[in-house]
Amino acid sequence: MATMGPAVADLEAVRGLVEAGMDVARLNFSHGDHESHIRMIKWIRQAAAEVGRSIAILQDIQGPKTRVGHFRGGSVDLPQGASVRISATGEEGGPDLIPVDYPRLLDDVGTGARVVMSDGLIEGRVTGSDSEGLTVLVVRGGELLDRKGIAFPDSDLEIGPVTEKDRLDLELGRKMGVDYVAASFVKRGEDISHVRELAGGDTPIIAKVELARAYQNLDSILDQADGVMVARGDLGVQLPMETIPNVQADILHRTNQAGLISITATEMLESMVTALRPSRAEVTDVANAVASGTDAVMLSAETAVGRHPARVVEAMSSICVEAERYRDQQMTGADAIDFLESTMTFASATAKAATEAARNLGFRTIVAFTESGGTARLLSKYRPSADIMVFAPSGRIRRRMALFWGVTPIRFEPRASTDLMFAAAEKYLEKEGVCERGEGVVMIAGTPPNTQAKTNLVKLHVIGERLRASWRAGNRGRR
Ligand code: PEP
Repeated sequence: MATMGPAVADLEAVRGLVEAGMDVARLNFSHGDHESHIRMIKWIRQAAAEVGRSIAILQDIQGPKTRVGHFRGGSVDLPQGASVRISATGEEGGPDLIPVDYPRLLDDVGTGARVVMSDGLIEGRVTGSDSEGLTVLVVRGGELLDRKGIAFPDSDLEIGPVTEKDRLDLELGRKMGVDYVAASFVKRGEDISHVRELAGGDTPIIAKVELARAYQNLDSILDQADGVMVARGDLGVQLPMETIPNVQADILHRTNQAGLISITATEMLESMVTALRPSRAEVTDVANAVASGTDAVMLSAETAVGRHPARVVEAMSSICVEAERYRDQQMTGADAIDFLESTMTFASATAKAATEAARNLGFRTIVAFTESGGTARLLSKYRPSADIMVFAPSGRIRRRMALFWGVTPIRFEPRASTDLMFAAAEKYLEKEGVCERGEGVVMIAGTPPNTQAKTNLVKLHVIGERLRASWRAGNRGRR
Protein backbone atom coordinates (compact mmCIF):
# COMPACT_ATOMS: atom_id res chain seq x y z
CA MET A 1 0.00 0.00 0.00
CA ALA A 2 1.29 3.45 -0.82
CA THR A 3 0.06 6.82 0.44
CA MET A 4 -0.60 9.41 -2.26
CA GLY A 5 0.61 12.99 -1.92
CA PRO A 6 2.52 15.84 -3.54
CA ALA A 7 5.43 13.55 -4.51
CA VAL A 8 3.17 11.62 -6.91
CA ALA A 9 0.88 14.39 -8.12
CA ASP A 10 0.59 13.48 -11.80
CA LEU A 11 -0.48 10.53 -13.91
CA GLU A 12 3.05 9.47 -14.79
CA ALA A 13 4.17 9.33 -11.15
CA VAL A 14 1.10 7.31 -10.16
CA ARG A 15 1.69 4.92 -13.05
CA GLY A 16 5.26 4.55 -11.75
CA LEU A 17 3.90 3.33 -8.40
CA VAL A 18 1.56 0.83 -10.10
CA GLU A 19 4.40 -0.50 -12.25
CA ALA A 20 6.66 -0.76 -9.20
CA GLY A 21 4.15 -3.05 -7.44
CA MET A 22 1.62 -0.90 -5.54
CA ASP A 23 -1.68 -2.75 -5.06
CA VAL A 24 -3.53 -0.23 -2.93
CA ALA A 25 -3.43 3.58 -3.09
CA ARG A 26 -4.17 5.31 0.22
CA LEU A 27 -5.69 8.78 0.16
CA ASN A 28 -4.96 10.48 3.47
CA PHE A 29 -7.88 12.83 4.14
CA SER A 30 -5.93 14.56 6.92
CA HIS A 31 -4.30 16.44 4.04
CA GLY A 32 -5.44 17.90 0.74
CA ASP A 33 -8.80 19.22 -0.43
CA HIS A 34 -11.60 17.51 -2.34
CA GLU A 35 -10.33 18.79 -5.66
CA SER A 36 -6.87 17.27 -5.17
CA HIS A 37 -8.38 13.93 -4.04
CA ILE A 38 -10.71 13.79 -7.06
CA ARG A 39 -7.75 14.46 -9.39
CA MET A 40 -5.75 11.72 -7.68
CA ILE A 41 -8.59 9.18 -7.92
CA LYS A 42 -8.81 9.81 -11.67
CA TRP A 43 -5.05 9.32 -12.09
CA ILE A 44 -5.12 6.09 -10.10
CA ARG A 45 -8.02 4.68 -12.14
CA GLN A 46 -6.36 5.69 -15.39
CA ALA A 47 -2.91 4.32 -14.41
CA ALA A 48 -4.49 1.01 -13.33
CA ALA A 49 -6.33 0.73 -16.67
CA GLU A 50 -3.19 1.56 -18.65
CA VAL A 51 -1.08 -1.01 -16.80
CA GLY A 52 -3.96 -3.53 -16.84
CA ARG A 53 -4.13 -4.19 -13.09
CA SER A 54 -6.78 -3.91 -10.42
CA ILE A 55 -5.76 -1.27 -7.88
CA ALA A 56 -7.81 -0.53 -4.76
CA ILE A 57 -8.31 2.99 -3.46
CA LEU A 58 -8.45 3.31 0.33
CA GLN A 59 -9.92 6.50 1.76
CA ASP A 60 -8.33 7.18 5.15
CA ILE A 61 -10.56 9.63 7.01
CA GLN A 62 -9.06 11.95 9.61
CA GLY A 63 -11.36 10.97 12.47
CA PRO A 64 -11.77 12.79 15.77
CA LYS A 65 -8.14 13.56 16.57
CA THR A 66 -7.81 16.04 19.43
CA ARG A 67 -5.56 18.99 18.63
CA VAL A 68 -4.13 22.04 20.35
CA GLY A 69 -5.36 25.44 19.14
CA HIS A 70 -3.39 28.47 17.96
CA PHE A 71 -0.52 30.21 19.75
CA ARG A 72 0.60 33.82 19.52
CA GLY A 73 3.43 33.54 16.98
CA GLY A 74 2.42 30.06 15.78
CA SER A 75 4.26 28.02 18.42
CA VAL A 76 5.32 27.85 22.04
CA ASP A 77 8.41 26.50 23.80
CA LEU A 78 7.59 24.13 26.66
CA PRO A 79 10.69 23.55 28.82
CA GLN A 80 10.98 20.44 30.98
CA GLY A 81 9.80 21.14 34.53
CA ALA A 82 7.48 24.01 33.51
CA SER A 83 3.94 24.16 34.83
CA VAL A 84 1.38 25.05 32.13
CA ARG A 85 -2.38 25.19 31.87
CA ILE A 86 -4.52 23.34 29.36
CA SER A 87 -7.87 24.93 28.74
CA ALA A 88 -10.85 24.46 26.43
CA THR A 89 -12.19 28.01 26.92
CA GLY A 90 -11.22 29.06 23.38
CA GLU A 91 -8.49 31.55 24.39
CA GLU A 92 -5.38 32.04 22.28
CA GLY A 93 -2.37 30.05 23.56
CA GLY A 94 0.87 31.37 25.03
CA PRO A 95 3.94 30.18 27.01
CA ASP A 96 1.78 29.06 29.96
CA LEU A 97 -1.52 28.26 28.24
CA ILE A 98 -2.29 25.44 25.79
CA PRO A 99 -5.71 25.69 24.17
CA VAL A 100 -7.46 22.44 23.15
CA ASP A 101 -10.62 21.72 21.13
CA TYR A 102 -12.16 19.30 23.64
CA PRO A 103 -14.97 20.84 25.74
CA ARG A 104 -15.28 17.91 28.20
CA LEU A 105 -11.63 18.23 29.27
CA LEU A 106 -12.38 18.77 32.96
CA ASP A 107 -14.92 15.94 33.10
CA ASP A 108 -12.78 13.30 31.44
CA VAL A 109 -9.13 13.99 32.35
CA GLY A 110 -8.15 13.56 35.99
CA THR A 111 -5.11 14.33 38.14
CA GLY A 112 -2.15 12.03 37.40
CA ALA A 113 -3.21 11.44 33.76
CA ARG A 114 -0.58 11.64 30.99
CA VAL A 115 -0.79 14.29 28.28
CA VAL A 116 1.18 13.59 25.09
CA MET A 117 1.66 16.23 22.41
CA SER A 118 3.17 16.57 18.96
CA ASP A 119 3.40 12.84 18.09
CA GLY A 120 5.00 11.97 21.43
CA LEU A 121 7.69 14.67 21.33
CA ILE A 122 6.32 16.44 24.40
CA GLU A 123 4.85 14.79 27.48
CA GLY A 124 3.22 16.13 30.62
CA ARG A 125 1.29 14.93 33.64
CA VAL A 126 -1.83 16.54 35.12
CA THR A 127 -1.08 17.87 38.62
CA GLY A 128 -4.42 19.56 39.33
CA SER A 129 -7.41 21.44 37.92
CA ASP A 130 -9.81 24.33 38.54
CA SER A 131 -12.94 25.58 36.80
CA GLU A 132 -10.94 26.96 33.86
CA GLY A 133 -8.63 24.08 33.02
CA LEU A 134 -5.96 21.55 33.95
CA THR A 135 -2.54 22.24 35.42
CA VAL A 136 0.16 20.15 33.77
CA LEU A 137 3.81 19.54 34.65
CA VAL A 138 5.99 19.19 31.54
CA VAL A 139 8.10 16.05 31.97
CA ARG A 140 9.57 16.05 28.45
CA GLY A 141 9.87 19.46 26.83
CA GLY A 142 9.94 20.73 23.26
CA GLU A 143 8.48 23.22 20.80
CA LEU A 144 4.71 22.89 20.32
CA LEU A 145 3.31 24.17 17.02
CA ASP A 146 -0.24 25.33 16.21
CA ARG A 147 -2.80 22.53 15.62
CA LYS A 148 -0.49 19.67 16.62
CA GLY A 149 -2.09 16.54 18.07
CA ILE A 150 -2.67 16.22 21.81
CA ALA A 151 -3.51 12.82 23.31
CA PHE A 152 -4.70 11.72 26.75
CA PRO A 153 -3.73 8.02 26.69
CA ASP A 154 -4.96 7.27 30.25
CA SER A 155 -8.34 8.98 29.82
CA ASP A 156 -11.56 7.85 28.20
CA LEU A 157 -12.62 10.83 26.08
CA GLU A 158 -16.28 11.06 25.07
CA ILE A 159 -15.74 11.87 21.40
CA GLY A 160 -17.95 10.63 18.59
CA PRO A 161 -16.30 8.48 15.92
CA VAL A 162 -16.73 11.00 13.07
CA THR A 163 -16.47 14.76 12.69
CA GLU A 164 -18.38 17.02 10.30
CA LYS A 165 -15.31 16.98 8.03
CA ASP A 166 -15.38 13.15 8.03
CA ARG A 167 -19.07 13.18 7.00
CA LEU A 168 -18.34 15.41 4.00
CA ASP A 169 -15.25 13.37 3.10
CA LEU A 170 -17.20 10.09 3.29
CA GLU A 171 -19.86 11.57 1.04
CA LEU A 172 -17.16 12.38 -1.52
CA GLY A 173 -15.66 8.90 -1.15
CA ARG A 174 -19.05 7.36 -1.80
CA LYS A 175 -19.57 9.49 -4.89
CA MET A 176 -16.13 8.62 -6.23
CA GLY A 177 -16.56 4.89 -5.51
CA VAL A 178 -13.56 4.34 -3.20
CA ASP A 179 -12.91 0.67 -2.53
CA TYR A 180 -12.11 0.81 1.21
CA VAL A 181 -12.53 3.30 4.05
CA ALA A 182 -10.02 3.41 6.91
CA ALA A 183 -11.58 4.72 10.12
CA SER A 184 -9.20 6.71 12.34
CA PHE A 185 -9.28 6.99 16.14
CA VAL A 186 -12.03 4.44 16.62
CA LYS A 187 -12.44 3.19 20.18
CA ARG A 188 -14.84 0.28 19.89
CA GLY A 189 -16.86 -1.87 17.51
CA GLU A 190 -19.87 0.40 17.35
CA ASP A 191 -17.69 3.24 16.00
CA ILE A 192 -17.07 1.06 12.96
CA SER A 193 -20.79 0.53 12.35
CA HIS A 194 -21.27 4.29 12.44
CA VAL A 195 -18.56 4.88 9.83
CA ARG A 196 -19.90 2.00 7.72
CA GLU A 197 -23.32 3.60 7.56
CA LEU A 198 -21.91 6.97 6.47
CA ALA A 199 -19.71 5.24 3.89
CA GLY A 200 -22.82 3.81 2.23
CA GLY A 201 -23.12 0.41 3.90
CA ASP A 202 -21.35 -1.69 1.29
CA THR A 203 -17.76 -0.36 1.44
CA PRO A 204 -15.43 -2.52 3.57
CA ILE A 205 -14.15 -0.68 6.64
CA ILE A 206 -10.60 -0.97 7.97
CA ALA A 207 -10.29 -0.05 11.66
CA LYS A 208 -7.10 1.83 12.47
CA VAL A 209 -5.92 0.72 15.89
CA GLU A 210 -4.16 3.83 17.14
CA LEU A 211 -5.70 4.46 20.56
CA ALA A 212 -4.87 2.49 23.71
CA ARG A 213 -8.65 2.16 24.12
CA ALA A 214 -8.99 0.59 20.65
CA TYR A 215 -6.40 -2.03 21.53
CA GLN A 216 -8.23 -2.79 24.77
CA ASN A 217 -11.46 -3.17 22.76
CA LEU A 218 -9.90 -5.14 19.89
CA ASP A 219 -12.39 -8.02 20.16
CA SER A 220 -15.40 -5.73 19.66
CA ILE A 221 -13.58 -4.03 16.76
CA LEU A 222 -12.87 -7.42 15.15
CA ASP A 223 -16.60 -8.17 15.42
CA GLN A 224 -17.51 -5.16 13.28
CA ALA A 225 -14.60 -4.35 10.95
CA ASP A 226 -13.51 -5.92 7.66
CA GLY A 227 -9.85 -5.36 8.48
CA VAL A 228 -7.47 -3.81 10.98
CA MET A 229 -4.51 -1.50 10.51
CA VAL A 230 -1.75 -1.45 13.12
CA ALA A 231 -1.30 2.36 13.00
CA ARG A 232 2.03 2.43 14.77
CA GLY A 233 2.48 6.21 14.59
CA ASP A 234 -0.32 7.19 16.94
CA LEU A 235 -0.31 3.88 18.78
CA GLY A 236 3.33 4.54 19.69
CA VAL A 237 2.20 7.78 21.33
CA GLN A 238 -0.54 6.10 23.32
CA LEU A 239 1.38 3.02 24.51
CA PRO A 240 4.93 2.72 25.84
CA MET A 241 7.07 2.46 22.69
CA GLU A 242 8.79 -0.73 23.84
CA THR A 243 5.41 -2.52 23.84
CA ILE A 244 4.69 -1.79 20.15
CA PRO A 245 6.42 -4.89 18.67
CA ASN A 246 4.43 -7.26 20.89
CA VAL A 247 1.21 -5.30 20.43
CA GLN A 248 1.72 -5.44 16.64
CA ALA A 249 2.25 -9.21 16.71
CA ASP A 250 -0.83 -9.67 18.90
CA ILE A 251 -3.08 -7.50 16.68
CA LEU A 252 -1.89 -9.26 13.50
CA HIS A 253 -2.42 -12.69 15.05
CA ARG A 254 -5.92 -11.95 16.34
CA THR A 255 -6.97 -10.20 13.11
CA ASN A 256 -5.78 -13.14 11.00
CA GLN A 257 -7.47 -15.67 13.26
CA ALA A 258 -10.71 -13.73 12.80
CA GLY A 259 -10.27 -14.05 9.01
CA LEU A 260 -9.99 -10.27 8.51
CA ILE A 261 -7.49 -8.21 6.50
CA SER A 262 -4.40 -7.14 8.47
CA ILE A 263 -2.24 -4.13 7.61
CA THR A 264 1.02 -2.92 9.19
CA ALA A 265 1.67 0.80 8.81
CA THR A 266 3.97 3.74 9.47
CA GLU A 267 7.70 4.42 9.26
CA MET A 268 8.33 1.09 7.55
CA LEU A 269 10.99 2.47 5.18
CA GLU A 270 11.09 5.97 6.67
CA SER A 271 14.75 6.71 5.86
CA MET A 272 13.84 6.37 2.16
CA VAL A 273 11.93 9.64 2.35
CA THR A 274 15.35 10.96 1.40
CA ALA A 275 17.77 8.00 1.13
CA LEU A 276 18.04 5.71 -1.90
CA ARG A 277 18.36 2.57 0.22
CA PRO A 278 16.54 1.53 3.39
CA SER A 279 18.35 0.90 6.65
CA ARG A 280 18.94 -2.74 7.56
CA ALA A 281 16.62 -2.29 10.54
CA GLU A 282 13.81 -1.12 8.24
CA VAL A 283 14.31 -4.09 5.91
CA THR A 284 14.07 -6.37 8.93
CA ASP A 285 10.96 -4.55 10.18
CA VAL A 286 9.10 -5.12 6.88
CA ALA A 287 10.23 -8.77 6.73
CA ASN A 288 9.20 -9.32 10.36
CA ALA A 289 5.73 -7.91 9.67
CA VAL A 290 5.41 -10.42 6.81
CA ALA A 291 6.66 -13.23 9.05
CA SER A 292 4.07 -12.22 11.67
CA GLY A 293 1.36 -12.75 9.07
CA THR A 294 0.47 -9.23 7.91
CA ASP A 295 -1.57 -9.20 4.69
CA ALA A 296 -0.30 -5.78 3.64
CA VAL A 297 2.48 -3.33 4.45
CA MET A 298 1.96 0.38 4.05
CA LEU A 299 4.13 3.32 3.00
CA SER A 300 3.25 6.82 4.25
CA ALA A 301 5.59 9.82 3.87
CA GLU A 302 7.94 7.63 1.79
CA THR A 303 5.61 7.86 -1.23
CA ALA A 304 3.48 10.90 -0.29
CA VAL A 305 6.29 13.42 0.12
CA GLY A 306 9.46 11.35 -0.42
CA ARG A 307 12.17 11.94 -3.03
CA HIS A 308 11.83 8.68 -4.99
CA PRO A 309 8.40 7.10 -4.43
CA ALA A 310 8.58 4.36 -7.11
CA ARG A 311 11.96 3.22 -5.85
CA VAL A 312 10.56 2.81 -2.32
CA VAL A 313 7.68 0.68 -3.64
CA GLU A 314 10.19 -1.48 -5.55
CA ALA A 315 12.30 -1.88 -2.39
CA MET A 316 9.29 -2.83 -0.28
CA SER A 317 8.05 -5.24 -2.92
CA SER A 318 11.38 -7.06 -3.14
CA ILE A 319 11.65 -7.32 0.67
CA CYS A 320 8.13 -8.84 0.79
CA VAL A 321 8.86 -11.32 -2.01
CA GLU A 322 11.99 -12.57 -0.25
CA ALA A 323 10.29 -12.69 3.16
CA GLU A 324 7.41 -14.68 1.67
CA ARG A 325 9.79 -17.13 0.00
CA TYR A 326 11.43 -17.86 3.34
CA ARG A 327 8.13 -17.99 5.19
CA ASP A 328 6.78 -20.47 2.67
CA GLN A 329 9.75 -22.78 3.15
CA GLN A 330 9.42 -22.56 6.93
CA MET A 331 5.62 -22.76 7.02
CA THR A 332 4.65 -24.97 9.91
CA GLY A 333 1.37 -25.81 11.51
CA ALA A 334 2.25 -23.38 14.31
CA ASP A 335 1.85 -20.13 12.35
CA ALA A 336 -0.71 -21.39 9.84
CA ILE A 337 -4.38 -20.65 10.43
CA ASP A 338 -5.90 -23.96 11.37
CA PHE A 339 -9.48 -23.12 10.61
CA LEU A 340 -11.37 -19.85 10.48
CA GLU A 341 -13.85 -20.52 13.22
CA SER A 342 -15.79 -17.36 12.62
CA THR A 343 -16.57 -18.61 9.13
CA MET A 344 -17.37 -22.30 9.56
CA THR A 345 -19.00 -22.40 6.20
CA PHE A 346 -18.78 -24.36 2.97
CA ALA A 347 -16.62 -21.54 1.53
CA SER A 348 -14.12 -21.73 4.40
CA ALA A 349 -13.93 -25.52 4.28
CA THR A 350 -13.51 -25.44 0.49
CA ALA A 351 -10.73 -22.85 0.68
CA LYS A 352 -8.94 -24.85 3.38
CA ALA A 353 -9.23 -28.07 1.35
CA ALA A 354 -7.87 -26.32 -1.77
CA THR A 355 -4.91 -24.94 0.21
CA GLU A 356 -4.01 -28.36 1.58
CA ALA A 357 -4.48 -30.15 -1.74
CA ALA A 358 -2.23 -27.66 -3.56
CA ARG A 359 0.45 -27.96 -0.86
CA ASN A 360 0.33 -31.77 -0.73
CA LEU A 361 0.39 -32.15 -4.51
CA GLY A 362 2.98 -29.42 -5.09
CA PHE A 363 0.64 -27.45 -7.37
CA ARG A 364 1.68 -23.89 -8.18
CA THR A 365 -1.77 -22.46 -8.82
CA ILE A 366 -5.15 -22.33 -7.13
CA VAL A 367 -7.99 -21.02 -9.29
CA ALA A 368 -11.11 -19.56 -7.71
CA PHE A 369 -14.29 -17.96 -9.01
CA THR A 370 -15.98 -15.38 -6.87
CA GLU A 371 -18.95 -13.05 -6.97
CA SER A 372 -18.38 -11.26 -3.67
CA GLY A 373 -14.64 -11.76 -3.11
CA GLY A 374 -15.37 -13.80 0.03
CA THR A 375 -13.80 -17.01 -1.28
CA ALA A 376 -10.66 -15.11 -2.31
CA ARG A 377 -10.30 -13.63 1.17
CA LEU A 378 -10.63 -17.03 2.83
CA LEU A 379 -8.11 -18.63 0.48
CA SER A 380 -5.74 -15.78 1.13
CA LYS A 381 -5.98 -16.18 4.91
CA TYR A 382 -5.05 -19.87 4.70
CA ARG A 383 -1.74 -18.77 3.10
CA PRO A 384 -1.41 -21.41 0.37
CA SER A 385 2.04 -21.88 -1.12
CA ALA A 386 0.37 -21.74 -4.56
CA ASP A 387 -0.52 -18.50 -6.38
CA ILE A 388 -4.20 -17.60 -6.04
CA MET A 389 -5.76 -16.64 -9.37
CA VAL A 390 -9.29 -15.35 -8.83
CA PHE A 391 -11.76 -14.83 -11.65
CA ALA A 392 -14.47 -12.29 -10.87
CA PRO A 393 -17.02 -10.53 -13.08
CA SER A 394 -17.26 -7.34 -10.98
CA GLY A 395 -14.58 -4.63 -11.34
CA ARG A 396 -15.41 -3.34 -7.87
CA ILE A 397 -14.78 -6.78 -6.35
CA ARG A 398 -11.56 -7.22 -8.35
CA ARG A 399 -10.27 -3.90 -6.98
CA ARG A 400 -11.11 -4.97 -3.42
CA MET A 401 -9.17 -8.19 -3.93
CA ALA A 402 -6.04 -6.14 -4.68
CA LEU A 403 -5.67 -5.80 -0.89
CA PHE A 404 -5.84 -9.55 -0.30
CA TRP A 405 -2.55 -11.32 0.32
CA GLY A 406 -1.31 -13.37 -2.66
CA VAL A 407 -4.43 -12.88 -4.81
CA THR A 408 -4.29 -11.95 -8.51
CA PRO A 409 -7.72 -10.67 -9.61
CA ILE A 410 -8.72 -11.53 -13.19
CA ARG A 411 -11.60 -10.17 -15.26
CA PHE A 412 -14.17 -12.79 -16.17
CA GLU A 413 -17.48 -12.93 -17.99
CA PRO A 414 -19.99 -15.15 -16.14
CA ARG A 415 -20.58 -18.60 -17.70
CA ALA A 416 -23.65 -20.84 -17.46
CA SER A 417 -21.95 -23.90 -15.95
CA THR A 418 -18.85 -24.76 -13.92
CA ASP A 419 -17.50 -26.79 -16.86
CA LEU A 420 -17.58 -23.69 -19.06
CA MET A 421 -16.01 -21.60 -16.26
CA PHE A 422 -13.15 -24.07 -15.81
CA ALA A 423 -12.57 -24.28 -19.56
CA ALA A 424 -12.43 -20.47 -19.91
CA ALA A 425 -10.07 -20.12 -16.93
CA GLU A 426 -7.83 -22.85 -18.24
CA LYS A 427 -7.60 -21.17 -21.63
CA TYR A 428 -6.67 -17.86 -19.99
CA LEU A 429 -4.00 -19.37 -17.72
CA GLU A 430 -2.35 -21.21 -20.59
CA LYS A 431 -2.49 -18.20 -22.90
CA GLU A 432 -0.98 -15.88 -20.26
CA GLY A 433 1.79 -18.38 -19.48
CA VAL A 434 0.63 -18.84 -15.86
CA CYS A 435 0.25 -22.61 -16.33
CA GLU A 436 1.59 -25.14 -18.77
CA ARG A 437 -0.29 -27.89 -20.54
CA GLY A 438 -0.40 -31.00 -18.34
CA GLU A 439 0.13 -29.01 -15.15
CA GLY A 440 -2.15 -29.72 -12.22
CA VAL A 441 -4.18 -26.93 -10.58
CA VAL A 442 -6.83 -26.80 -7.88
CA MET A 443 -10.04 -25.11 -8.94
CA ILE A 444 -12.75 -24.04 -6.52
CA ALA A 445 -16.15 -22.73 -7.42
CA GLY A 446 -19.77 -22.66 -6.41
CA THR A 447 -22.51 -24.72 -7.96
CA PRO A 448 -24.88 -23.56 -9.25
CA PRO A 449 -22.58 -20.86 -10.67
CA ASN A 450 -23.02 -17.06 -10.44
CA THR A 451 -24.59 -16.95 -6.98
CA GLN A 452 -22.98 -15.42 -3.89
CA ALA A 453 -21.49 -17.42 -0.99
CA LYS A 454 -22.05 -20.86 -2.43
CA THR A 455 -18.47 -22.04 -2.86
CA ASN A 456 -18.78 -25.78 -2.42
CA LEU A 457 -16.71 -27.50 -5.10
CA VAL A 458 -13.03 -28.47 -5.28
CA LYS A 459 -11.73 -29.86 -8.55
CA LEU A 460 -8.22 -31.20 -9.07
CA HIS A 461 -7.77 -30.25 -12.67
CA VAL A 462 -5.13 -30.87 -15.29
CA ILE A 463 -4.56 -28.13 -17.84
CA GLY A 464 -5.58 -29.63 -21.19
CA GLU A 465 -7.61 -32.42 -19.59
CA ARG A 466 -6.89 -34.89 -22.35
CA LEU A 467 -3.29 -35.06 -21.09
CA ARG A 468 -4.46 -36.24 -17.66
CA ALA A 469 -2.83 -39.67 -18.16
CA SER A 470 0.63 -38.14 -18.34
CA TRP A 471 0.30 -36.33 -15.02
CA ARG A 472 1.76 -37.84 -11.89
CA ALA A 473 1.41 -36.51 -8.36
CA GLY A 474 4.65 -35.03 -7.04
CA ASN A 475 6.06 -33.85 -10.38
CA ARG A 476 4.66 -30.34 -9.77
CA GLY A 477 2.27 -30.92 -12.61
CA ARG A 478 4.84 -30.75 -15.39
CA ARG A 479 5.19 -33.25 -18.17
C1 PEP B 1 -0.57 6.04 12.23
O1 PEP B 1 -0.80 6.78 13.18
O2 PEP B 1 0.32 5.17 12.24
C2 PEP B 1 -1.41 6.18 11.03
C3 PEP B 1 -1.36 5.31 10.06
O3 PEP B 1 -2.31 7.19 10.99
P1 PEP B 1 -2.05 8.64 10.32
O4 PEP B 1 -0.97 8.44 9.28
O5 PEP B 1 -3.35 9.01 9.74
O6 PEP B 1 -1.62 9.49 11.43
